[in-house]
Amino acid sequence: MKTWDTIIAGAGIIGVSLALELQERGARVLVLDSGEPGHEASSAAAGMLAAFDPETLPALRPLAVESARMFPEYVRKLEAAAQMQVDFRRMGTIAFLETASTPPEHKSLSTHDLERLEPSLRNHGHPAFFVQEDSVDPHLLMLANLAAACKAGIEIRGHQKVTSMRPCSSGVEVVTEADRFTARSAVDCRGAWSGTPVKPRKGQMLYVQPKTSILRHVLRAPEVYVVPRTTGKILIGATVEDVGYDKTVNPSAIQGLLNAAAKYLPELASAPITQSWAGLRPGTPDDLPIIGPTETPGLFVASGHFRNGILLAPVTARIVAGLIEGGPAPLSISAFSPARFSRQTA
Ligand SMILES: Cc1cc2nc3c(=O)[nH]c(=O)nc-3n(C[C@H](O)[C@H](O)[C@H](O)COP(=O)(O)OP(=O)(O)OC[C@H]3O[C@@H](n4cnc5c(N)ncnc54)[C@H](O)[C@@H]3O)c2cc1C
Repeated sequence: MKTWDTIIAGAGIIGVSLALELQERGARVLVLDSGEPGHEASSAAAGMLAAFDPETLPALRPLAVESARMFPEYVRKLEAAAQMQVDFRRMGTIAFLETASTPPEHKSLSTHDLERLEPSLRNHGHPAFFVQEDSVDPHLLMLANLAAACKAGIEIRGHQKVTSMRPCSSGVEVVTEADRFTARSAVDCRGAWSGTPVKPRKGQMLYVQPKTSILRHVLRAPEVYVVPRTTGKILIGATVEDVGYDKTVNPSAIQGLLNAAAKYLPELASAPITQSWAGLRPGTPDDLPIIGPTETPGLFVASGHFRNGILLAPVTARIVAGLIEGGPAPLSISAFSPARFSRQTA
């Protein structure tokens, strides 16, 4: 009978990045997904690697900054292994903020600086800043993760819904609707489907394809963000909605986002919409991820990455792989402990 060292439930960016990290460390890994691997939040994201966004909670900042630092090498290895590009861009972000008090990584821009950097951009009286942040195309990044995992011989099985993960004599038994598997350890990477206290937070977005290139940097404004891709398409996002597992795309929400973006980039108003979609971010009550061991020996959680799961994938993989090996976490993860919620309800 085939055996594994670790079974991962959920083949999104968190689960597959962890599988690659564990496999590189010599472990045999099985990944189970209830649907098509990679088809949920991780393919639906914008791909801003916004480590310095003032909205990022202070407790998350060290993890976000470390993961942003790891990203170039993470992409280099993935692109080499998968033999494909993921549109990793290092142009930086222009941030229009509602306040002039910002983290030190924000460099203030004059009107002249702004015109020079982005001639098509219109400001509406916001303090403007440049931030050295990168971006990536999450759809391509997810495909590259799956291709790299496949080439590395990692077994990823779709349409295997995990219904429970419980202790057994050899470690953890992972039960699906059709099968049972055992391994020394297991990790819950089921994103918005990880169960209480994780809940889905819907985001709608769209792509437009302007006739000419009108933006090089990522734009972050108070009510909208705009992310250019190297192909010329431009992503506009996103809503944050608490509507359960509903992924319906609402045309008026999409038009609202387009109007908000066209306020800053007037050419966008006439650009054709080429795609619109919705994804479900894994939210938590305190907006922080859940990373660490559970009360069940051998069972870990890596979930609840909310708005930053693409950014946080490399550091989460490194931390959880280290925990599974029994070592100390390379960064403090006490703020992300699964126990913080059981303590609240006890
Ligand atoms: C509109 C939008 C914009 C975003 N923009 C950004 C951004 O700019 N930057 C950023 O860093 N992050 C962004 N995010 C957040 C990011 O997408 C998520 O935090 C991240 O994708 C979460 O990854 P995951 O692997 O945990 O979840 P997912 O990608 O959702 O993967 C979870 C997987 O678990 C599977 N699953 C569910 N139930 C079961 C089960 N019972 N058994 C087995 N498998 C199961 C699902 O099928 C799915 O494949 C955005 C998200 C959205 C929706």
